[in-house]
Amino acid sequence: MPVDATAAYDPDNIFARILRGEIPCRKVYEDEHALAFHDINPQAPHHILVIPKGAYVSWDDFSARAGDAEIAGFVRAVGHVAREAGLVAPGYRLLANSGPDSHQEVPHLHVHIFGGRPLGPMLA
Ligand code: IMP
Repeated sequence: MPVDATAAYDPDNIFARILRGEIPCRKVYEDEHALAFHDINPQAPHHILVIPKGAYVSWDDFSARAGDAEIAGFVRAVGHVAREAGLVAPGYRLLANSGPDSHQEVPHLHVHIFGGRPLGPMLA
């Protein structure tokens, strides 16, 4: 079910629980601002999720409330993960669903990194 991304942050959402170590994940990278792990239901040979460590529901919430250091750290982490996965030369796609029309399912901001095959035209 798509989430209501305008709702208050739910501290028991699944990615919050992964951040607290209550649920396992296949971790790819972690620093003070971000955690990256493999998507449980990959849609491409590389399908990695990068999440900020702060409590942000969506891209909208993050871009409005996060501090400059958090935003810079998160953006750098996404780029680092893509580089470390070897995706710069072949290319990759970033996706951040935000709100019901986007079909966002988990109410903690996450950026999908897709790569490892030609991805075709933009997802709709
Ligand atoms: P959304 O539709 O943009 O919210 O994407 C949520 C993503 O989270 C989907 O691609 C799911 O496969 C993924 N997902 C849900 N639960 C887990 C988990 O426990 N570990 C890793 N990925 C998950």
